[in-house]
Amino acid sequence: MKQYILTHGNLLTMRDRTIKYDTDILIRDGKIQKIGRNLTASAVQEAAGPVNGINSEADAWKCEADALNGETKILDISGRYVMPGLIDSHCHYDADYMGKMFLACGVTSVRNMRGYKRHAEYAAETLAGKRTGPYIYSSGPIYDGEDPGIPDNSNEIVRTEADVEQAIEYTIRNGFLWLKTYPSIEPELYRYLLKRARQQGLPVCGHMSKKLDDKVLADAGYYCCEHSSSLPSHNADIRYLAESGMWFTPTQAVCETLPDYVWNGKTLPELEHFKDLPECERESWESRNRKIIESYRSQGVRPDIRVVISRGRTFLEYSDRFMAGTDCAYPGIIPGFSMADELEKLVELYGCTAFEALKAATVNPAAHIGLEEKKGSIREGMDADIVVLAGNPLADIGNVRKVSMVFQGTNLYDEETIRAYGSEAGFLKKEEIEFIHW
Ligand SMILES: [Zn+2]
Repeated sequence: MKQYILTHGNLLTMRDRTIKYDTDILIRDGKIQKIGRNLTASAVQEAAGPVNGINSEADAWKCEADALNGETKILDISGRYVMPGLIDSHCHYDADYMGKMFLACGVTSVRNMRGYKRHAEYAAETLAGKRTGPYIYSSGPIYDGEDPGIPDNSNEIVRTEADVEQAIEYTIRNGFLWLKTYPSIEPELYRYLLKRARQQGLPVCGHMSKKLDDKVLADAGYYCCEHSSSLPSHNADIRYLAESGMWFTPTQAVCETLPDYVWNGKTLPELEHFKDLPECERESWESRNRKIIESYRSQGVRPDIRVVISRGRTFLEYSDRFMAGTDCAYPGIIPGFSMADELEKLVELYGCTAFEALKAATVNPAAHIGLEEKKGSIREGMDADIVVLAGNPLADIGNVRKVSMVFQGTNLYDEETIRAYGSEAGFLKKEEIEFIHW
């Protein structure tokens, strides 16, 4: 039995906005066993056994020494802040190098939004402790109709009811949690898909529809709208979706890449952590970004980011069912590090309090995934997915960048490991990386 006691931490359980100062946490077998004061003393007493007890100071010292040298590791985290591990609620975990970057930034789980068989294998390997990276909860592939607007469309195209059945079957068989749709599926087929998915208990998430009224999707129980840019243009319609109980992932940071790189002259190397990506990834992003820039400039489309923000804000006025997702590794959105960017945007642009933003990265996605009894907040009996920060994230949301320790179940990543994990991908050669293709 290996156990840890984190002592004298300032605990933000995320069950409410208070901080429990000077609190200890006992972690055993990957679970939060106990929360309270002076847990070290009780652990020492337990080590001494119920019969002998601790009769003298000398005994106490001996027991403490045994505890320290043996099964219990005591970590003094005085002055630091403890919160639940972050959940990136919209990502594309398409290369193995990303796993350590996520952990370095306190992201202990991800919601992967395009899953193939290999992603399902990654998820199982992570759970079994054979892969270093966040736990993976994934949708299946992206299903769309014919869309001539997408060059080199790599999405799965559904043309017939048989295709819909196959999509549902593939998604369920691989253990994926959601069926993901893009907006060009033909209306009648879309209705059929929503009906069949619902009958089989499979929630549908994605980019809504270009051809079907969004309210029809809401009425059919469409589970989550991805990206502020996918929301309808009229406030009344956004309100309708919000009040239907639909979830929403704004992904504001990725929405901004379009105006930033296409029109505002931003470049990828300006990003603080661009150098921490593998060289081959940097090259691939540069080339993809060039294509995106050319395509949008030639179409002359110049989206107004203020409109996108105002749609997202409207949703948040009527619902608290929203999640912080980054859409990494879209060019410009760095795995792990972009999580803090998204949280800052929720505060600065969407008017969230720091607590609401943090909920969007913990409690909310845990509920969305159906894991609220295991993850997303800190209480006895829950999974030990924990981030230790060197600053109070409620006082300044930017303090989520100051990760000093991460627990993920039975794994402890200390400060040195975190620092290494945050930068070592920058030294990887292409042949050392597994990219997931489909
Ligand atoms: Zn995405």
